[in-house]
Amino acid sequence: MQPQRVWREIPQRYRLEAGQCRKCKKIFFPPRLKCPDCGGEAFAKLRLPTDGKLLTYTVVHTAPERFAKLAPYGLGIVELSNKVRLTVQIVDVEPEELKSGMPLRLEFRKIHDVGHAGVICYGYKAVPA
Ligand SMILES: [Zn+2]
Repeated sequence: MQPQRVWREIPQRYRLEAGQCRKCKKIFFPPRLKCPDCGGEAFAKLRLPTDGKLLTYTVVHTAPERFAKLAPYGLGIVELSNKVRLTVQIVDVEPEELKSGMPLRLEFRKIHDVGHAGVICYGYKAVPA
């Protein structure tokens, strides 16, 4: 991921901040500047709920280098209680125990360590609820 992109996404990644279109009330995560549904450009900031359920998932066996220690792990689409969907890594559960529809909760966790500088990235992961 590009460093600029990481910076831009930090508020959302850290606070689960979404944008709700003031016109049609649709919620976007990450927030957008223009609503693709109604063309509205005014958004209200909204914090996403952390409870949801697993819609679909895949098990990642060959992970990017920074996640290699964690493989195999589940990567899933979680639908939160307000219907917003996001793609997150699923931890604290064996990949074979994953199933669609299972309740999950988002938790703030360490995502990965970056190189020798010891920079640590934090973000949200899903755990069984
Ligand atoms: Zn809209």
